[in-house]
Amino acid sequence: MGEALLQLEGITKRFGATVAADRLSLTVFRGEFFTLLGPSGSGKSTILRIIAGLERPESGRVLIEGKDVAQVPPWRRGLGMVFQQYALFPNMNVARNVAYGLRVRGVPEDRIRSRVAQLLALVGLSGLAEKDVTVLSGGEQQRVALARALAVEPPLLLLDEPLGSLDEKIRREMQVELKHIQRQTGTTFVYVTHDQEEALTMSDRIAVIHRGVCVQCDVPEVLFRRPKTRFVASFFRGSNVLEADVVEAVRGRLHIRIGGTVIALEASGGQPTGSRVSVAIRAEHLRLGPRAADRRVRLIATLRDVVYRGTNVDHLLEMADGQHLIATSTQREAEAVGSSVPVGFDLEHVVLLEDDRSAPSA
Ligand code: ADP
Repeated sequence: MGEALLQLEGITKRFGATVAADRLSLTVFRGEFFTLLGPSGSGKSTILRIIAGLERPESGRVLIEGKDVAQVPPWRRGLGMVFQQYALFPNMNVARNVAYGLRVRGVPEDRIRSRVAQLLALVGLSGLAEKDVTVLSGGEQQRVALARALAVEPPLLLLDEPLGSLDEKIRREMQVELKHIQRQTGTTFVYVTHDQEEALTMSDRIAVIHRGVCVQCDVPEVLFRRPKTRFVASFFRGSNVLEADVVEAVRGRLHIRIGGTVIALEASGGQPTGSRVSVAIRAEHLRLGPRAADRRVRLIATLRDVVYRGTNVDHLLEMADGQHLIATSTQREAEAVGSSVPVGFDLEHVVLLEDDRSAPSA
């Protein structure tokens, strides 16, 4: 998968009774867009600050290019940082802000001029070089902050919710642009966000962080389609997480009962007959009414409500055992609210979840 640029090995950090990083290990490869994703308070910023050297771990090691950086101060780690608060120099114009790091390093003026022009073109701000930064919009200011951080060509750029204060439309545009800029420059990004959609849009790989633990680390498609634990499944919007009874466990196969129907899943074992397991099925994989007929598995549920969401329509369902399900489709299904409806899905869309002792509290 390429060369490891950053390695965290068994990092632990507590603040009183709070564990912000719990024996956390992960590897970021050169050129990757790597995202730390998790709810607020899960430890993402602390992990970033530990990488930057702004916070000291109690135990564990941070390696950059294979070297333990415990004794290396933040300014010698060769990292760039971009935060939600852009922290631009208000007394300097756009060009001077971008040029700052180059000037500090004594780069000749003609080289600075061409580099600044190149960076402003990269972030889409050509023509604004002489503008006062205080009159720029939030999105423009964030672009200046990004150009300033990239100016000195750091091998690793740390970004902590950099789009957090932008409004929805600008944020979405910037997501695509950021990814583009990351590819073009080949800079390794470690990006912190609590927004699953943002993480899925931009990242090469995502580490899902919960209470300082990395619960799953993989490419976006795998996290989205094959969540490992209840927490990961519940964190990605649109997953139904259901409880099921194990009716039989034999030779790598698990027969489980969901809403009165028994289905067989491949399983590596560990779940004895009589125990309860959790499974995830994404809302867009459920079919209702006549469209359920050609699916391998069929249940009966009561349609409780229909919620129009613009592009999609959510059908809120309740099974006989009281468990709730959401089926999403592009249009409202014909069934009446309050009626019993067949719900169909295919076995390949059922994901058996591992126990997650740190299941989400909210
Ligand atoms: P996230 O970035 O995922 O929102 P943080 O890393 O900021 O999470 O925080 C993780 C936990 O550590 C939170 O409970 C937070 O309150 C706590 N924490 C972070 N920094 C400090 C600090 N300097 N002093 C005390 N508690 C802190």
